[in-house]
Amino acid sequence: MVNPTVENLVIIGSGPAGYTAAIYAGRANLKPVVFEGFQAGGLPGGQLMTTTEVENFPGFPQGITGPELMDKMKAQAERWGAELYTEDVISVDLSQRPFTIRSEEREIKAHSIIIATGATAKRLGLPSEQQFWSRGISACAICDGATPIFHGAELAVIGAGDSAAEEAIYLTKYGSKVNLLVRSEKMRASKAMQDRLLSNPKIQVHWHTVAVDVVGNGHMDGVKVRNTVTGEESVLPAKGLFYAIGHTPNTSLFKGQLELDEVGYVVTKNGLMETSVEGVFAAGDVQDHEFRQAITAAGTGCMAAMLAERWLSSKGLIQEFHLQSATANNELASEVETKTVVDPAAEFSLQATRHEGGYALRKLFHESDRLLIVKYVSPGCGPCHTLKPILNKVVDEFDSKIHFVEIDIDKDREIAENAGVTGTPTVQFFKDKELVKELKGVKQKSEYRQLIESNL
Ligand SMILES: Cc1cc2nc3c(=O)[nH]c(=O)nc-3n(C[C@H](O)[C@H](O)[C@H](O)COP(=O)(O)OP(=O)(O)OC[C@H]3O[C@@H](n4cnc5c(N)ncnc54)[C@H](O)[C@@H]3O)c2cc1C
Repeated sequence: MVNPTVENLVIIGSGPAGYTAAIYAGRANLKPVVFEGFQAGGLPGGQLMTTTEVENFPGFPQGITGPELMDKMKAQAERWGAELYTEDVISVDLSQRPFTIRSEEREIKAHSIIIATGATAKRLGLPSEQQFWSRGISACAICDGATPIFHGAELAVIGAGDSAAEEAIYLTKYGSKVNLLVRSEKMRASKAMQDRLLSNPKIQVHWHTVAVDVVGNGHMDGVKVRNTVTGEESVLPAKGLFYAIGHTPNTSLFKGQLELDEVGYVVTKNGLMETSVEGVFAAGDVQDHEFRQAITAAGTGCMAAMLAERWLSSKGLIQEFHLQSATANNELASEVETKTVVDPAAEFSLQATRHEGGYALRKLFHESDRLLIVKYVSPGCGPCHTLKPILNKVVDEFDSKIHFVEIDIDKDREIAENAGVTGTPTVQFFKDKELVKELKGVKQKSEYRQLIESNL
């Protein structure tokens, strides 16, 4: 008899590998539990949440943005009954069956696990890195590139792979010039990417160049660089420095419990997604240091789910869950936001909780007697996408007790500049026209909730 308190399958990670595994396992009636992650090892939705156009994922001939693609995968996983938690797994115990998987908020027992925790962007550890983090230094050009301080300024990118090339090209939309620092005399980026990069007149590649530190007063003004051939040091003017220097597999949870290679990637067996522990499978970038693509991650996610289902079945461990109606969830998932152009003055109502744009912010700043929450976002910013449902939920809880305004820093540049916004997402809390708190990045619901409660 199957134990009803033990899950069939837990999937850790919500990139293309995790969501694809969830879709396949859901369709196999396994009702998989997915830990989407929160802060450990990247964003819910994975690495594609930090990119703009994805041009090579089959089925989208005109391309699709990374966050949009991941939204669709998530909706498809939900449609097939996957149970999603936007939480980090903090420990796993693979020494006893059923396996135990813990987050801060729950502990789950499961017969099988798919590890799809991907890989995390590396940092350089420059002496002043901490001081200038989010005050010029960023690991996500797509998230922070549109920040007003970078408009028309010289910028720098470090790296030699596809990410570095893509980020440098993207930043030319905003910066007057982009300096790409490359350690040796060649790049690892694909030939096509290098061609685009080298033919862009706003990009200067500095070969044999490493960053030594960052300089500035409050906000960064330049990167101290060293030529690796001559040893000569100089300062390159730059208001922003973007890291694109590779990734580390997110496997610290599994150290000592699973076979990992010397770099830390999960070792998979028999040309399949099996790991050194029976019933534990790995998919995507966490086990792939060669292809590292969304489609290969999705493909291996599919294989891992099919293998998990076969394994559970061979051990007589499957408890089947049949969906009542897949179409009910589907309707929810396919909801499309429609926006029409409106006159902000005609549209504005002081009674409403939610607002958008500079006009509403100015009005509310002067007329609101509620706590005013301002969220600054930018187009294509993955973390902004992640924050949206989290903050929406909290705002709903305080309906008619607060005012909430969303500002797109690309459209309302001047406002963002005056508010001193240096990256997105940023959320500012104002009471009686005074700034009481600023939160950068994505936080847990509880943090926003507590802040609101203590300022009502
Ligand atoms: C800037 C950029 C552009 C790219 N462009 C393309 C492209 O155009 N086409 C393409 O095919 N590929 C592209 N890639 C590569 C592609 O994004 C990756 O190959 C793919 O995302 C890997 O998928 P994954 O599911 O293995 O892992 P990831 O996407 O890295 O996802 C890992 C997931 O694990 C979660 N996680 C980590 N630790 C934990 C934990 N402790 N608990 C719970 N969850 C956890 C994270 O939150 C995340 O959801 C790009 C990558 C980058 C960085």
